[in-house]
Amino acid sequence: MGPFGRVLVLIFGISFMTFVTFFGRLPALRHTPIAGLYRLIWVHTPNVLLKIDQRVTAGRLSTSCASFGNYMMYDRHPTVVIFFVTTLAVAEMMFLPTAWPLMSLPVKITGCLAIVCPYVFLYLACAADPGYVTEESLPHLMTLYPYDFILFHPGRVCRTCNLPKPPRSKHCTVCKKCVARSDHHCIFINSCVGLGNHHYFLLLLLSTAILTSYGGVLGMSLLSAHVHENHPTWQLWKPNTTMSWTRWLGLFSIGIRQHLGLGASTLLAAMISPLIWGLFLYSLYLVYAGVTTNESLKWSEWKEDTRDGYAFARPLPTNRQIAGEPTWTRWPKLPATIMVTTDDAEPPLPEQQCPGVGEWERPRSLRDVENVYDIGFWGNLKDVFLVGHYHGSENGEPLSERKRYDKRAANGGRYPP
Ligand SMILES: [Zn+2]
Ligand SMILES: [Zn+2]
Repeated sequence: MGPFGRVLVLIFGISFMTFVTFFGRLPALRHTPIAGLYRLIWVHTPNVLLKIDQRVTAGRLSTSCASFGNYMMYDRHPTVVIFFVTTLAVAEMMFLPTAWPLMSLPVKITGCLAIVCPYVFLYLACAADPGYVTEESLPHLMTLYPYDFILFHPGRVCRTCNLPKPPRSKHCTVCKKCVARSDHHCIFINSCVGLGNHHYFLLLLLSTAILTSYGGVLGMSLLSAHVHENHPTWQLWKPNTTMSWTRWLGLFSIGIRQHLGLGASTLLAAMISPLIWGLFLYSLYLVYAGVTTNESLKWSEWKEDTRDGYAFARPLPTNRQIAGEPTWTRWPKLPATIMVTTDDAEPPLPEQQCPGVGEWERPRSLRDVENVYDIGFWGNLKDVFLVGHYHGSENGEPLSERKRYDKRAANGGRYPP
């Protein structure tokens, strides 16, 4: 295999591994071959290697690797960020020397913008506080969202942080802290994606998707112009009918070999681009649905429990007083139903003292269940991008309080209104 073949295999390998690693864990693809491949690569293969090591060296090799593996898997380290930035920078250094002199001024300007944006959003996503729950931030975070009494119930305390868990938060075992409106821990930014940096993460995905498509299309057009110059009958989009596919591909690969740097970076960009677009569109779909990645995992478990008859629901009274539930939140939607699961598929017992009134019913499907965190696509998008849009300013007066004042004024200032 020549250097060209090796480059192709390497590019294909990187694209394929990125695809499986990114998409294999998504709940939407849980029952597909992609999830199977993910388990094969990241779960079964390490297990087989571990068993071989047990036989051959009585586990000495894996023990010495364990602390390193533990560090790699469960500690924050910038390895993947460095890998990501290096890949990006090396691809750009391979691309630009050949491409720059051939680019027109508008292409140069837009190209520079496309190159700079991913670095800026990567920095912002890495540097921003994702929304760590601390004693100082807790009172504010408790007012942002209501407990939905399905995925998030009041009164729960994180045993590691020793702090109450605000609605939509999750403890991250890598960051070792609870994160507000936690989406997931992302190794590409070496941080959690949460309330404070979800918008930067989406912009990082979008700008990287645009950069890779731009690079792919621009590189292809420069390469095809180069091949066309030497072989006027060769065309990229409308292959000449008299030219066989083998000859078409042969001429194209000669063109790539003559500009190996440009060719390799173009092919990498073209192959990676659909993956990043896919990830961006999936992340955008989650925003549309009003769920975080963490919540989408929980909802997929709820779906199974509902189907199997382990889920029970009943109405919540509006005048309830439940320990740990804030008296008001800045969110426009409030829960009306509590939903719980039981181990024996029997309704919860009265001694469990679950909130709610009336008989427990089995919801037939999750379509009957309302997600209070979904306030429509634009509302959800504003919630992600304009951090604090629904939440009011930190020092400002909460909307619900203001409403209370209005009511009080309307009935002559008596309390309660
Ligand atoms: Zn915690
Ligand atoms: Zn984390």
